[in-house]
Amino acid sequence: MKALVFTAPGTMELLDVPEPDPAPGEVLVEVRAAGICGSELHGARRPGFRKPPLIMGHEFAGTGAGGEPVVVNPILSCGRCAECRRGLRHVCREREIVGVHRAGGFAERVAVPASALRPLPPGLPWETAALIEPAANAVHAWNQALGAVGAKGVPAPRVAVIGCGAIGLLCAATALSGGADRVEVTDLSPARLAAAQRLGAEVADRGLSGEYDVVIDAVGSAATRAASVAHQRPGGVAVWLGLAEEEAGFDANALVRSEKRVLGSFAYRDEEFAQAMARIQDWDLTWAAGYPLAAAAEIFTDLMNGGLHPLKALLRP
Ligand SMILES: [Zn+2]
Ligand SMILES: [Zn+2]
Repeated sequence: MKALVFTAPGTMELLDVPEPDPAPGEVLVEVRAAGICGSELHGARRPGFRKPPLIMGHEFAGTGAGGEPVVVNPILSCGRCAECRRGLRHVCREREIVGVHRAGGFAERVAVPASALRPLPPGLPWETAALIEPAANAVHAWNQALGAVGAKGVPAPRVAVIGCGAIGLLCAATALSGGADRVEVTDLSPARLAAAQRLGAEVADRGLSGEYDVVIDAVGSAATRAASVAHQRPGGVAVWLGLAEEEAGFDANALVRSEKRVLGSFAYRDEEFAQAMARIQDWDLTWAAGYPLAAAAEIFTDLMNGGLHPLKALLRP
């Protein structure tokens, strides 16, 4: 079969590879749409958890063994540890992710544990289905924010989202459909800002100004992390999902004096994956575009080298 293979740092190739051989308890998924994630663009340039050779792809949907439409929850966990038993299997220390630690969805077919399959509602477009996984990240981030500042009787939060890649856009949509009064966004790209406006967000033209109850950092640079703390009201919260760099140059004394908070947000709980599936059907997703697998190496390489179009690419094996 054909697959997009990460063969060396900075190199993605469309190759003929052996058919996947499902182990006991696994099923073969025929991939219909698979999103290219920003973390994969970083990971291909500077290999960390993702080691070549690897078929990436953790955001995908397709058909299961009986031809039924499914989306894959790519978080695999041990099921036995304290975190797993608390319902926090996304932070299991033995966590593995389909497309990161084992072959993923940038291929015609992929073997995954049967437990990772989630049935799709009938008629959901494949390209929408492939966005459920990134949307689940946004739902989790928003739930983290509400857990911190969503106390009863408090007005619906004023929210800022830094960075309008797919995750930032989905965070804006989640906040707007989840009780936020208003959501202001920042990004350097006019096309990304336009997509955010179509989702109902407002553009903070000259960057963030004033204070917000919730600041979501979907970039993850030292500068955006500092901004997320600086523009947080006393007792507010910053939720960090971005992973652009390891540094965090924020004012820690301001954090102490104004009881500001910073929460890391990674992946999602199982129920949040289901919530994302329910919510995503209402959102404008025209910023995502599908491409045949034959174009995969070209489109991935272009995005990896800083190309901004499309805002979100979905491979359609
Ligand atoms: Zn992703
Ligand atoms: Zn575990």
